[in-house]
Amino acid sequence: MSVTRVYEIPERGSYDIIVAGGGVAGAAAAYTAAREGRRVLLIEKSVMLGGLATLGLITLFVPMCNGRGKQIIRGLADEFMRLAVKYGFDTIPDDWKEGEPQKPTVQRLKTRFDTGMFALALNKLLCDAGVDLLYDTIVTDTVMEGNRCRGLIVENKSGKSYYAADVVIDTTGDADVLYRTGVPCVTGKNYFTMIMHRISLKSCAEAVAARDIGRAIKWTYGGDATLHGKNHPQDRPTYDGTDAAAISEYIRENQLVAFEKLCGDDRKSRAIVTMPGMAQFRTTRRIDGDYTLTVRDVFRHFSDSVGAICDMDQRDYLYEIPYRCLVRSGYPNLITAGRSISAEGYAWDVARVIPPAIITGQVAGLAASISLDSTRDLTTIDIKTLQEKLTAQNVLLHFDDSWVPDNPEPYSENIDHI
Ligand SMILES: Cc1cc2nc3c(=O)[nH]c(=O)nc-3n(C[C@H](O)[C@H](O)[C@H](O)COP(=O)(O)OP(=O)(O)OC[C@H]3O[C@@H](n4cnc5c(N)ncnc54)[C@H](O)[C@@H]3O)c2cc1C
Repeated sequence: MSVTRVYEIPERGSYDIIVAGGGVAGAAAAYTAAREGRRVLLIEKSVMLGGLATLGLITLFVPMCNGRGKQIIRGLADEFMRLAVKYGFDTIPDDWKEGEPQKPTVQRLKTRFDTGMFALALNKLLCDAGVDLLYDTIVTDTVMEGNRCRGLIVENKSGKSYYAADVVIDTTGDADVLYRTGVPCVTGKNYFTMIMHRISLKSCAEAVAARDIGRAIKWTYGGDATLHGKNHPQDRPTYDGTDAAAISEYIRENQLVAFEKLCGDDRKSRAIVTMPGMAQFRTTRRIDGDYTLTVRDVFRHFSDSVGAICDMDQRDYLYEIPYRCLVRSGYPNLITAGRSISAEGYAWDVARVIPPAIITGQVAGLAASISLDSTRDLTTIDIKTLQEKLTAQNVLLHFDDSWVPDNPEPYSENIDHI
């Protein structure tokens, strides 16, 4: 059986740009577009900014350098990384504390951070930039005129509402908007993982001794399958994260496993300080864009590169992200960023982690603004203008060939982590 209901939905606002989803990519896109003087609405289904990086407890900015002292991922990723630790603890290696080191170093620029302080700092940043924030609101549908998106329908405590926009940026991580507008999308697969934050008497003692509260917080797990699927229970399916029943099963079963693991502890010796507020899926749905980045693109230059990025695990391995990974021809005012850009296999793993997600968010915010200025479709904007603006905002577009070693260390199959 199915039901039909006809609704009249009030329009509650009209914006230059609507950003759907306030993870790091969405926050970067909204902030960047607002800095360009645009009227921006950011719609977030939860009650904080940062997405997986805060609500999802993924508290590690992975390496942003080439493993020899050159910072590859810069721009807003660097600004957000420094913001994430400005009011809380960090684990930036000594050689990088004052910025790019004068001499080569094998230490890699990465850091842990305080989820709460990062979320609070992002909220303040976006408020100061003049972004309108709509929290606790889920984007449920799109209104189309041909392939042009006229606006988004949302659901929240006020019921259903419509917001009109000239450009829509999909940073839901799940390509929720793109999928509903008919943009071709691809689904991924996820292993059985759940990360929680825990403190214990032992970790607190360690933190007190070091006078560093960050040391008190440790990751603890329900399912503990790794990036490459090690520890994934044989009797469990993988999850693409686009089916409501399967998502509930994933969350329910992970919580049952976590409960079982934790029940054996001395109950006064530890506390779970935070559970993830969203399913910790790496890859759900992403755009099938005008270009799809693959591992074959390592060390390859693209004339439409919008940012050089580095492999988070293996030093020296460098990529460039073509602008075409964010858009699909035929859809004039839609763009994506973050973990839903067009990349596959390990290249997607490298392109979707926190620092690159921020860069593509910055790109989407600038591209949206340029499209409005030039009245050109997002797929045909002047790439040179975009690249000039990115360069002015400290984004490295192309890696230098002198950083590519003659014989890069072969990729190690042993590298794996949660
Ligand atoms: C287990 C795991 C381990 C990882 N480890 C690392 C790591 O160590 N370091 C690292 O850098 N990266 C890591 N990552 C990857 C990284 O966390 C993400 O790829 C990155 O944070 C993605 O950011 P995003 O903004 O694209 O998406 P998300 O963080 O998913 O943000 C999407 C936002 O959109 C909102 N949203 C979704 N749907 C809607 C809707 N319909 N309406 C309104 N709002 C909506 C969500 O609430 C969320 O806030 C890991 C990921 C996982 C799952």
